[in-house]
Amino acid sequence: MTPALDDAVYLDHHATTPVDERVAEEMTPYLTENFGNPASDDHLYGAKAKEGVEQAREQISEVLNCRKEEIIFTSGATESDNLATKGVADYAERKDKGNHIITGETEHEAVLEACEVLEERGFDVTYLPVDENGLINPDDVEEAIRDDTLLISIMAANNEIGTIAPLKEIGKVAKDNEVFFHTDAVQAVGYVPIDVEEMGIDLMSISAHKIYGPKGIGALYVRRRNPKVKLDPLIHGGGHERGWRSGTLNVPSIVGLGKAVQLADKEMDERRQHVDELTSYMWDRFNSKLDDVVLNGHPEKRIPNNLNVSFLGVENKALVQNLQPELAVSAGSACTTGKVEASHVLQAIGGDEERWHSAVRFGLGKDNTKEEIEHATDQVIQSVSRLRKLQIS
Ligand SMILES: *Cc1c(COP(=O)(O)O)cnc(C)c1O
Repeated sequence: MTPALDDAVYLDHHATTPVDERVAEEMTPYLTENFGNPASDDHLYGAKAKEGVEQAREQISEVLNCRKEEIIFTSGATESDNLATKGVADYAERKDKGNHIITGETEHEAVLEACEVLEERGFDVTYLPVDENGLINPDDVEEAIRDDTLLISIMAANNEIGTIAPLKEIGKVAKDNEVFFHTDAVQAVGYVPIDVEEMGIDLMSISAHKIYGPKGIGALYVRRRNPKVKLDPLIHGGGHERGWRSGTLNVPSIVGLGKAVQLADKEMDERRQHVDELTSYMWDRFNSKLDDVVLNGHPEKRIPNNLNVSFLGVENKALVQNLQPELAVSAGSACTTGKVEASHVLQAIGGDEERWHSAVRFGLGKDNTKEEIEHATDQVIQSVSRLRKLQIS
């Protein structure tokens, strides 16, 4: 039988998070009594559902500093990333307005694979390298721009190593060169203040389940003026979301996304401080108790809930196994789990095979306690020491 979850410490918040009670509470009436279809609002049922959707749009646009009409609800950030890249590329192709996309080597698979599909269709894609801390250089972005560049897509914070991109600088390069700028901000929401005006962002992907909302819901911000982003839909049908994403709206989840974004923003300072204290504690303890530990990602420019550490000489899969069932951590990102090859993100920051194959990602959350982290840290230290001894003898 699977052991009870109560016995395990959950440190995989980059993969997903639990739904906050307050979010669930907000959603519940929209599952039962307010079940109407917001597109069918000639009566009270539809009108009530529409009210919920518009409230969520309002909550999100307030946090991002955009207008309500600029939010498109999707099934999650994978779809948002696909809509941003393929949608803008499709329109550009149709209107003969460019053929080239700039992205980074450490992007999420949703962006990378969408770009690969576009390459197969004849688009040119530049995959920019990052430095040893996972940072993209805005000068490299500028140099890569060509006359036919239609989109720059660079993520706000990396889901494996936590590195935060220089969004404002990249946004400026995009504006100066009149190229659209998309950012996958899934991991940044709640930890990095995002202002689409100040940062020159034209398109932005977010997801609810990474910020204590439900799974299967996300949004794409699409700028409507200065400049107006032109994109084609991926999904056609009844013309919902101004024709950009047809399909009956997932009202309860949209309500949950709105609440989750609002809470993430309101509680940003305390969440940041809390997880920062815990990840600092973990890192200090690893360093004082173990030799040959390497931090992956930027020492300062990182989301405070992320700690990606290579325990040299220890295979990460073996370590994670050894920590079962007490610790829920990830060797590499959830999306690449199962593949034997090293994470594309770790490969991009350099180093050697040993570093890549000994990396463990700790993703902390607002509800982790000091006691949990002390326990988890001890467990990791013990396991690493044990596995290293086994290998020597
Ligand atoms: C999880 C994640 C996604 C995918 O989001 P879904 O809503 O699960 O589709 C995209 N980008 C990043 C950076 C992520 O961490």
